[in-house]
Amino acid sequence: MGAPGITGRTRPTKVKKQISAQKRKREDVDTEKLEQAVAELDIKNGAYKDFTDLPLSDPTKQGLKASHFAVMTDIQSKAIPLALAGHDILGAAKTGSGKTLSFIIPVLENLYRLQHVGTDAGLGALIISPTRELAIQIFEVLCKLGRHGHMFAAGLVIGGKSLESERQALTRMNILVGTPGRILQHLSQTSGFMVDDLKMLVLDEADRILDMGFQKDVDAIIEYLPKERQTLLFSATQSKKVSDLARLSLQDPEYVSVHAEDKSATPKTLQQNYIICPLEEKLDTLWSFIQSSKKSKIVCFFSSAKSVRFVYESFRHMQPGISLLHIHGRQKQGARLDVTAKFAAAKAACLFATDVAARGLDFPAVDFVIQVDCPEDVDTYIHRVGRTARYNREGRGILFLAPSEEEGMLKRLEAKKVPVELINVRQKKKQSIKSQLVHMLFKDPELKYLAQKAFVTYTKSIYLQRDKTVFNIKNHDLEAYAASLGLPGAPKIKFLKDDPSKQKKQQSRQELEVPELSDEDVEELEKKAAKPVRTKYDRMFERQNQDVLADHYKKLVKDDDEDTRDSNDEDDFNGNTATAQADDDDFMTVKRRIRADEDGAIEQGEDEDEDSTAPRAKVVNIQGASQPIIIDSNRREKLLKSKKKLLKLMDKGKKLVYDEDGNPHEVYELEDENDFLAKGLPEEQRQKFINAAKEVVAQADVEDKATAKAKRKEKLRKRKERERAGHDVSDDEDDEEGGVQIPDTGEDALANFRADFAHSDDDDDEDVNMVDDEEQEPKKKAKKWFQSDSEGEERNSKKRKKGKRNNAPVVQEPETLEDMEALAAGLLD
Ligand code: ADP
Ligand code: MG
Repeated sequence: MGAPGITGRTRPTKVKKQISAQKRKREDVDTEKLEQAVAELDIKNGAYKDFTDLPLSDPTKQGLKASHFAVMTDIQSKAIPLALAGHDILGAAKTGSGKTLSFIIPVLENLYRLQHVGTDAGLGALIISPTRELAIQIFEVLCKLGRHGHMFAAGLVIGGKSLESERQALTRMNILVGTPGRILQHLSQTSGFMVDDLKMLVLDEADRILDMGFQKDVDAIIEYLPKERQTLLFSATQSKKVSDLARLSLQDPEYVSVHAEDKSATPKTLQQNYIICPLEEKLDTLWSFIQSSKKSKIVCFFSSAKSVRFVYESFRHMQPGISLLHIHGRQKQGARLDVTAKFAAAKAACLFATDVAARGLDFPAVDFVIQVDCPEDVDTYIHRVGRTARYNREGRGILFLAPSEEEGMLKRLEAKKVPVELINVRQKKKQSIKSQLVHMLFKDPELKYLAQKAFVTYTKSIYLQRDKTVFNIKNHDLEAYAASLGLPGAPKIKFLKDDPSKQKKQQSRQELEVPELSDEDVEELEKKAAKPVRTKYDRMFERQNQDVLADHYKKLVKDDDEDTRDSNDEDDFNGNTATAQADDDDFMTVKRRIRADEDGAIEQGEDEDEDSTAPRAKVVNIQGASQPIIIDSNRREKLLKSKKKLLKLMDKGKKLVYDEDGNPHEVYELEDENDFLAKGLPEEQRQKFINAAKEVVAQADVEDKATAKAKRKEKLRKRKERERAGHDVSDDEDDEEGGVQIPDTGEDALANFRADFAHSDDDDDEDVNMVDDEEQEPKKKAKKWFQSDSEGEERNSKKRKKGKRNNAPVVQEPETLEDMEALAAGLLD
């Protein structure tokens, strides 16, 4: 299948305009003859076998010939003559029995004979399909048949594209195929879309289009259409409901049910089996089946898009050795078209699908239809299984039934003439994929999320099914089912809680805990969130005796505002205790705290009932608490026994300092105001204080200087002693620094000085600055692995210089003190 949009015409018109004009003339003649032949048709007996037996236009005949359609199927031979004669038809025939041509040929022919052609003619026929894929398929059959000489403009409207792009083309359409929603959208929004002269309305898969899901749209569409028209309804499972027929205002419809007398409602060439498979074994069984049928074309049906996605994603990761595809209603239009095209073209492939692919799709040569999740009713079963064994081809259907579903489902299938036979799964061939799934889910949180969603949606769908004899969630082992999906445990599902009161109490908490909520759950939650939360105190306040409670309530609310900061502190203090107790109460509770300074204050979150059994209030003084504590409840009574809890009732400790006499004082003590003023004006006092401080500083300065001088002198003395002892001299008086050991290396004395100076422990500012200036040198040495090339070069050149110096003539060893002084002065010059 391609991706057709609005096509404009079933045949190009720009080319060969003259030829078409000539044809038009010839057609005028044809239509009269055709009218006459149709009027003479034997419509009741199904007397015609071949298409050539029917009075059809040349273009239709050409189209049929080109598609190699020669012999009519049963439904075609009965329905087409009736439809050509203008009757309304309710056509029922098995899946794959050729219903599409049964309405396409009459549409083309009846409009042809009426010459309902061209832009001015407006819409002549409207064909409605329940799904986009089926609409496309119908449109393709229409184009294939109509492209051999018919002049109709045909279009497809299925959504997923911009309305605007379809609008213009729509006004020219003679035949339109589409889905209900999109058709209605155009009918209500596209001004030039003319349907007043509509001649034919066709509903393919009519029972589906007329069911609840499309009711509103279809009723609205019919409102737009003229009542005088021909209506054709086709389906494998036809509705004969009078109400439906009335809705469509059918006029004496012909009920054409070609297989009504058959033993089976499904094709004869279809072999149908079922297996008993508990929920928890489904995936193992399906995987094993796919492994044993890698060369087949398989469609697997599931009850929800989430299951489809999970099974597709997880099986894909396990490299099944067959190409996997998936289709469901939540996919984007492009992806859906891609999938249908790929699957149609594939020789061997496995398509995981929801019921969006159950109806009408004509994938060639499907070998197996596996119904992994039980269909909701027999009609769905018939349509799903109808994707195989089409038009006399062979095919097999396998239905997975949980033990609890078997009895009920078999009864229903039997009642609708669907013969299914039990087969057993070869246990030897069955592989378990559970551990693989567990591993994958562990590694891939997204997959785990999908599994959870699949679980929740499946259980929910079972829960919501009306037919409890087949679908009953209590009959399934949900823990085992969850484990079979690779989940560590069954996700909590609120609707499965037995005890309604418990359910109500835990609801909000669960909703927070459970990340695997279905979309519906989330919507529900959002709705709830929109409503303001009513606490116990809201309810108390709303009661009749408001006066009694109002003050109390107000206090609580007020406290709450005031004490937000305090309560945080308290949290730290209480640790887990407070949270644990809060958990026992409703979900939304005000933070608890204890105040003893107000009458009637109680612990928040306390049950009202407790007050009635509380002991009579008594006042207790505890050590370390400035305020007495009111004991007015059992809990407070208990509280006295816990040292830890009492801690928070005590006043906070203060830091004290002790004076020389050992008397405690607070860290900061304010002087008495009168005493302060007695000492004089503040500004005077300030000045006094500054002067005193200045004196202290000046005195300290003199002392410091004296100490520094003494230090220097001492150093100098030491150095001179060393010098006398015959050590090399390297620094002079101005740069003297304590403890500098000058190694006798014979190197440049200044170089050595610098290096060693940097290591000296120094407390003189001046010298510190010098260190700063020079400190890079030793650092660079330490960081030799990080130095840049330029730094390296610099260093090398220095070394070279050093080397040169080393080679310089050695200074003569000084002998006297004068010699040494002269040498030092010379070096520092
Ligand atoms: P239905 O709508 O009844 O499920 P379709 O109209 O989709 O069945 O037809 C099923 C298949 O049978 C299609 O592939 C179609 O091409 C083929 N088919 C229909 N009528 C004829 C015919 N008269 N001769 C040969 N093949 C036919
Ligand atoms: Mg069909």
